[in-house]
Amino acid sequence: MEREVESLVKLQEIDGQIIKIKKSLKEIPEEIDRLYASCRAAKAEIEAGEAEVKRAELKRKEIDIEVEAKKAALVKLQQNQSAVKTNKEYTAILSEIENVKKEILSLEDSELEEMEVIETKKGLIPPKVAALKEEEAKFGVIKGEKEKEVAGLKEDLAKLEEARLGIVGGVSSGWIGTYQKLLTQKGGLAVVKLLNSNCHGCHTDVPPQFVIEVRKGDKVITCPNCDRIVHYAE
Ligand SMILES: [Zn+2]
Repeated sequence: MEREVESLVKLQEIDGQIIKIKKSLKEIPEEIDRLYASCRAAKAEIEAGEAEVKRAELKRKEIDIEVEAKKAALVKLQQNQSAVKTNKEYTAILSEIENVKKEILSLEDSELEEMEVIETKKGLIPPKVAALKEEEAKFGVIKGEKEKEVAGLKEDLAKLEEARLGIVGGVSSGWIGTYQKLLTQKGGLAVVKLLNSNCHGCHTDVPPQFVIEVRKGDKVITCPNCDRIVHYAE
């Protein structure tokens, strides 16, 4: 049977890889999202432009209706003009006609302004849509690659998890518990090398007697300084 410490070394190797893969699996979607940010911004810009065009078109229609109503009122006033009997009435209707004419002119000015907005904003949209399409196509390629990478990592992860189960079975539950706790507390590093009497977890030198004990490898030993499980490495 394999010695417990050797199993723990293997477990640490596997868990090191698992930790790395899980980190990548978390980071890749975030990266994809980050890469899409410029597309998202361009999309928002296009939508804002389209909304502005729509608003201007509605406003223009409203003004148009108002202009038509004013023009109809003007015709009526002009018809009434010939029917007035007194000078006073004539002056009043004349001033009213002038007012309506001014109002029509002012409305037509606003309508022109809206038409200008429509024309300018509408012209800006197609190149932006074209640029977005291009950028989205580029993004699509990268996204596809990233998704392939994720699929590969998930496959690797499944294999590692399976291998891990096989190893865990060969270690006492007590040491598995200690190992798990260390893995969480010590930044994913529970089992470390002891190289030239130096612990590779905390980089502290340990006494010669301790080195001898670790070297035997017949039981699981932890570093007196950092509490990590140590194994002897040539
Ligand atoms: Zn240590």
